[in-house]
Amino acid sequence: MTQTRWCPPEQLLTPAPDTFLGFTVPEDVKAQWQRWEGADWRRNRYWETNNLFPPEQRFSVRPPADMCPAHRESWRKWRDHQFDPVTGNRWPGYHGSPFNPISRDLDQVRKERRREWEEGCRGQMLMIEGFCRDGRNCGDAA
Ligand SMILES: [Zn+2]
Repeated sequence: MTQTRWCPPEQLLTPAPDTFLGFTVPEDVKAQWQRWEGADWRRNRYWETNNLFPPEQRFSVRPPADMCPAHRESWRKWRDHQFDPVTGNRWPGYHGSPFNPISRDLDQVRKERRREWEEGCRGQMLMIEGFCRDGRNCGDAA
């Protein structure tokens, strides 16, 4: 089964580009290009150009260099957790799946749900980074 990757490969390039979507990339963002700071900056630039559902940025984020193997593994699992555009299932905990195509543009619903998943995964990944930083459950299978 082919996995859809929403992040164009050019975003994975290092070093960071000088411009992105026509915006000058500030030096502090360049330094964090492959971390959340860079990812959030890119997402905001997409929003500013009226792309409200941009490519998912978490695939271009790298785990912290000093992350322990157990947390790294669990971080990767959340990164690769993806919205399924066929079932349209919502992020766990939200009701409203499977698709209920009444009076709504399904493509729009898909986009909104994909974004819901992206935000959910981002939250989990950040939480795991925090656990590792605090030394919580390091070394436990996650
Ligand atoms: Zn850890």
